[in-house]
Amino acid sequence: MKPQWITVLGATGSIGLSTLDVVARHPERYRVFALTGHSRLVELETLCLKHKPRFAVVADQAAARHLQERLQAAGLETRVLAGEEGLCEVAGHPEVDAVMAAIVGAAGLRPTLAAVQAGKRVLLANKEALVMSGALFMQAVREHGAVLLPIDSEHNAIFQGLPGDYARGLSAVGVRRILLTASGGPFREMPAATLSDVTPEQACAHPNWSMGRKISVDSASMMNKGLELIEACWLFDARPEQVEVVVHPQSVIHSLVDYVDGSVLAQLGNPDMRTPIGHALAWPERIDTGVAPLDLFKVARLDFQAPDETRFPCLRLAREAAQIGGSAPAMLNAANEVAVAAFLERRIRFTDIAQIIESVLNAESVVAVEDLRAVLHADHLARVRAQEWLQRHAC
Ligand code: NAD
Ligand code: MG
Repeated sequence: MKPQWITVLGATGSIGLSTLDVVARHPERYRVFALTGHSRLVELETLCLKHKPRFAVVADQAAARHLQERLQAAGLETRVLAGEEGLCEVAGHPEVDAVMAAIVGAAGLRPTLAAVQAGKRVLLANKEALVMSGALFMQAVREHGAVLLPIDSEHNAIFQGLPGDYARGLSAVGVRRILLTASGGPFREMPAATLSDVTPEQACAHPNWSMGRKISVDSASMMNKGLELIEACWLFDARPEQVEVVVHPQSVIHSLVDYVDGSVLAQLGNPDMRTPIGHALAWPERIDTGVAPLDLFKVARLDFQAPDETRFPCLRLAREAAQIGGSAPAMLNAANEVAVAAFLERRIRFTDIAQIIESVLNAESVVAVEDLRAVLHADHLARVRAQEWLQRHAC
């Protein structure tokens, strides 16, 4: 078998590292074409020494020169590129077979789209890119014949629960609803009154998953489930009403598909992102990912609850943005990114995150997004409005 060349966008992050762990287990199947990282240069250098990629991409020219010298001194032929241009080059390079899109936030949009436009197998972890650009993104997938495989554990589970021809339409293949599971995050049982006092450390201490800081805060606010609801609508051509959020604290069922005949198909497994990563890398085959087998006796019970949108208003805001469409999801996402960064810098309270997003969505009118410029404009406007809120209220 000819090895597949893989680009890992966001290689120094949680998903990037898990991807490299799976890839390294199958040297006969996968070769690393490019690794990218933004701030953790030392970690990126270590990864380059291990995986010997053809390219590495860093944030700017100065960092690129520094890393290039270090790698050359170590005898590596890796070429180091810089900035968004470099990211797009390694995402769309003709010799690349598959791209793991694992940059966090809106910064991943252009590189992920570059992979789509080059017709690659795109392993999508960067949900924010799809939330922002929904219709345009899916249109590009169809136009360029990209193979889009979801890495988000819930969407990967749904993909596994759907028949191969689900693109004919959910009702055409007998699907009644998608049941999107949520762990509920670290504050699932916390009373509303104390939510305003939680710290970034508490928010980032997820009970079941170890993840980057932004998605950890999103999980704590349930905005992650809101973004995932929008993501599910685009990936599976579902209406927001067809996606029901189910809180399932054990994170063993990763999501379910409910069919009209009464069958409900669930995908289960230990909460370890190497399962969806391995699934998407090898699909339609299966490979070993190093994930321990599920011990149902140890799990013992599976609990389910309805989400509480009063304590977690971000979920309601995301559902509303999904229903409104147009530029609303891009603005929701951008306002959330600014708010989460401010929370992590201890400039605002946890409960201010939803306040900021709601005030941005109320301040700006929703417009249709016909091209990437319109998406980026909506993103920019929302960031400006969110910053204005911070100037008025934050410390
Ligand atoms: P992380 O913070 O651990 O890693 C983010 C990566 O993006 C790093 O490599 C960083 O260098 C890079 N990056 C950050 N800002 C950048 C910028 N401006 N330009 C270029 N690169 C930049 O995040 P993560 O937890 O690995 O999450 C990555 C993506 O995967 C997110 O969209 C997240 O929602 C999604 N995701 C993560 C998990 C998980 O378990 N971690 C699960 C599902 C989905
Ligand atoms: Mg998820």
